[in-house]
Amino acid sequence: MKKNYWFLLMLSAVMLVLAACGGDSANEEESEEGSGDSAGGDDWIENITLLTGGEAGVYFPLGVAMADIIDTSFDNVSATGVSSGASVSNAEQLNNGEAQLALVQNDIAFYGAEGNNMFSEPLDNYSGVFTIYPETIQLVTLADSGIESVSDLEGKRVAIGDMGSGTEANATQIIEAHGMTVDDVDAQYLDFSDASTNLQDGNVDAAFVTAGTPTGAIQELSASADVKIVSFDEDAMNDLMEEYTYYTQVDIPEDAYDNFDSTASTVAVQAMLIASNDIPEDQMYEMTKAIFENLDSMANAHVRGEELTLDTAEDGMSIDLHPGVQRYYDEQ
Ligand code: GLU
Repeated sequence: MKKNYWFLLMLSAVMLVLAACGGDSANEEESEEGSGDSAGGDDWIENITLLTGGEAGVYFPLGVAMADIIDTSFDNVSATGVSSGASVSNAEQLNNGEAQLALVQNDIAFYGAEGNNMFSEPLDNYSGVFTIYPETIQLVTLADSGIESVSDLEGKRVAIGDMGSGTEANATQIIEAHGMTVDDVDAQYLDFSDASTNLQDGNVDAAFVTAGTPTGAIQELSASADVKIVSFDEDAMNDLMEEYTYYTQVDIPEDAYDNFDSTASTVAVQAMLIASNDIPEDQMYEMTKAIFENLDSMANAHVRGEELTLDTAEDGMSIDLHPGVQRYYDEQ
C-alpha cells in the first residue's frame, strides 16, 4: 500500500513537469512567429493596406517602412504599403473603406474633411495620426529651357502630377496665383517617374513635384541632365498663402540635391498619416505606439523619416486625431 502511494506521487510529479515543459515550448513557438508583443482584440482589422504615392516619391519608401513595422509588431495583423495616385485619391479610397492608412498632404486632408476645393462633399471616415516633414512644391525644368518663372509656362507642356494627386492640386493653385489657369498650359497628368523621363526626353518642358527633398525622381534626373528648380514670384506666394493657409514659404537650400544647385524660393505643405475611423481605438493606439518605438526604420527608409518625432507630430495637423492616437499622445 505504502509503495503504491509513493509510486502515484512520483507519477504525478513527473506529469506536472512534463506539462510545464509542454507549456514552455508552446510559448516559444508563439513568440518566434513575430516580434508580436500584442495579440490584439477580436475586433482588430487583420489586413491593413497603407496607401502611399508613386514609387519615385518619398511616401512610397516611408509608407512601406511603416507597414513593415506594423506587420512585424503584431501576430494577427498583416500590413502592406502600396503605390497609389497619392493624396486626393488616397483620401477618397480611405474614406470608402478601400484602405485603412494613407499618407496625404495636410492641405488635402483638410479639404477632404471640409468637403471643399476638389471634394464635393465632406469625407468623414478618416482622422489624423501624425504629420512628418515638409513637402516642397518644386517646379523642375532643364537648365537651358528658358523657363525662369511660372508665367513662362504659358503654352508649354507641363507635368502637373498624377490625376488625383496633391501635386495636381498644388500645381493648379500655384498657376492660378500667378494670374493664369491650367488651361493656359498644356497640362500632362504624369507621376514623378514619368514626368522625369519625359523631361529628359524633351516631351515635357517642366514638371511640378510636391514631395520631400531630395525627391528620388529629381535626384535621378539630375544625374543625367542639367536641371534647375524655378522660384515662385513673391507676390503670388503671398496671395497663395493668404487664400490657402496650409502653405508656408520655404527656400530650397543649395545642397538639397547632390548634383546641382537647387536654390529656389517656393512653398511647402506637410506630409501626414491618416487613419480610417473603422480601425478600433485600441488597435490604432498599439499601431501608433509600434511606429514611435521603431523610428530608426523610418529614418533608414528615407532621410525625411528622421523628422517624425513625438514633439512635432501635431505640427500642422489639419484634422481631428483618431481617438487611439489621441490616447497615445495624452499618455506621453
Ligand atoms: N505629395 C504628393 C502628392 O500627394 C506625393 C508625394 C510622394 O509621393 O512622396 O501628390
